Amino acid sequence: AHLARIDAVDEKVHAFLHIDREGALAQARAVDAKREAGEKLGPLAGVPLALKDIFTTKDMPTTVGSKILEGWVPPYDATLTTKLKAADVVILGKTNMDEFAMGSSTENSAYGPTGNPWDLTRIPGGSGGGSSAALASFEAPLAIGTDTGGSIRQPAAVTGTVGVKPTYGGVSRYGMVAFSSSLDQGGPCARTVLDAALLHEAIGGHDPMDSTSIDAPVPPVVEAARNGSVTGMRVGVVKQFSGEGYQAGVVQRFNESVELLKSLGATVVELDCPSFDLALSAYYLIAPSECSSNLARFDAMRYGLRVGDDGTRSAEDVTALTREAGFGDEVKRRVILGTYALSSGYYDAYYGSAQKVRTLITQDFEKAFEQVDVIVSPTTPTTAFPIGERADDPMAMYLADLCTIPTNLAGNSAMSLPCGLAPEDGLPVGLQIIAPAMKDDRLYKVGAAVE
Ligand code: GLN
Repeated sequence: AHLARIDAVDEKVHAFLHIDREGALAQARAVDAKREAGEKLGPLAGVPLALKDIFTTKDMPTTVGSKILEGWVPPYDATLTTKLKAADVVILGKTNMDEFAMGSSTENSAYGPTGNPWDLTRIPGGSGGGSSAALASFEAPLAIGTDTGGSIRQPAAVTGTVGVKPTYGGVSRYGMVAFSSSLDQGGPCARTVLDAALLHEAIGGHDPMDSTSIDAPVPPVVEAARNGSVTGMRVGVVKQFSGEGYQAGVVQRFNESVELLKSLGATVVELDCPSFDLALSAYYLIAPSECSSNLARFDAMRYGLRVGDDGTRSAEDVTALTREAGFGDEVKRRVILGTYALSSGYYDAYYGSAQKVRTLITQDFEKAFEQVDVIVSPTTPTTAFPIGERADDPMAMYLADLCTIPTNLAGNSAMSLPCGLAPEDGLPVGLQIIAPAMKDDRLYKVGAAVE
């Protein structure tokens, strides 16, 4: 049924870069056979899923939305892919994304943009726009995203779906193509809070193959999602997540959500987190710095594309020609920015300062979580904007992640879930819930109560 739905709508939506029809049907049949034989089934047996094209899959291409990896089929599965298979999930295919997960609209994909199923002329968010669009168009009931600065939550917000950035280290990064390793975090996308929890539990947990993986059990997210409640909880509203640039309808739906929380028995506390105003600036030094280092591996020798190797050129020239042809504008912008920020003489002023700001943000969160159990905010300042509107304005594009980035810098957990439609344009608005590290279950407890 989901493959038929993909056939019917994906030409218009363009959520998928690769559809694994044969593999999905074979996997579904294997689950049926197991069931008939009375064998033990995985927790998500037979449930179809759309996988962001950033996770390696040994039986499918992995492009990360880039020409530089066009046609590359990895020799190994990411830990997350292995866990999905062990849960008996049916992987439908790989979803579209901004190249190397750099963007907020999926317009930076080398393979063309994805449409927002609510209005195909608008963006589905990014970088994981393919995954969120697959959910909103009913092409898949579950999807996987990655969130470096908001790429799970912002697409969830603008497509009226649920997305969770787990605590940093909660889901393995092994086999997830690196953008900014100290921020990158894979996580679940779904249409309901409970579905997200079931997927979170299946993909989470310690992985010895990832040195930053947390060696502790997955927080009890499913139990929390089944027992939604905010009675007696202290909920923080941060002053810095409001003001200029926030769309009126977004603010209205957010304020209504705060009233709802109060009516369900939560106490609301106003918080001041002054360093959050610097989060975007710090992020756009740290993320490009790590990106410039991580993307050095795309040297035309080891993977994918190779341009100009005609026997007359040096390896360095082939590398340069390949990177020139294989990377898009936003990726080049970040590599240049990051290389500059890390260069000798500038390192302390830029990268060093950004790291200090990162510490201040973590401290602001620590202080806040002494007073409250969770923080709430709009997920993103506006609803889905038209495709093309911010394409030539990186600063306007970067503002889409104003509310999501502090969480990545601090490494704690956050969810976006729908909280209604903005009256002025009829488009979905996302409510963000933020919890301390390894308290991901609180997101689900609150999310299930207000869903
Ligand atoms: N939009 C942000 C960026 O472009 C976040 C991306 C992400 O979370 N992968 O870097």
